Amino acid sequence: MRDVTEALLLTVVPALSTLCPEQRSGAVCVWCPRALPPGEGVDLSSDGRLRACAPCHMVQARVLATYLGWYDHGITCLRCPLGPCDRGQVLATRHQAAREQAGKPPLRCVHCRAIIEPGEQARPHLWQGLSGPVYSYLHARPCLR
Ligand SMILES: [Zn+2]
Ligand SMILES: [Zn+2]
Ligand SMILES: [Zn+2]
Repeated sequence: MRDVTEALLLTVVPALSTLCPEQRSGAVCVWCPRALPPGEGVDLSSDGRLRACAPCHMVQARVLATYLGWYDHGITCLRCPLGPCDRGQVLATRHQAAREQAGKPPLRCVHCRAIIEPGEQARPHLWQGLSGPVYSYLHARPCLR
């Protein structure tokens, strides 16, 4: 899987204002209420100010790595633009499973804003936002609305 250390940090930064002071100082995991004694957990920022417990880090890194794997496939595959190929399907399913494990909400299409239902095809839509890359999704077929 791809190294997502830097990307992982960027996904936390937009949510900084929602973190409690303990989380912002690295004393508590940024994703759960677990306290992290010095030496435990994974540093997200090089100054060690944002930290995660090992289980959260693994789950979140997996969400991102599976997203990027799916995205990388989609931009190089000649078949996926016509509807996901077998490999594209596998990568999409893998990413969905990782999201579920991380307790993420259902996918939402950034174009029509509707939830992408489990039976519908989605495709990753990665773009540069003001505070870093935005990992979003689109309906793979034209939106209904
Ligand atoms: Zn945690
Ligand atoms: Zn494909
Ligand atoms: Zn849509």
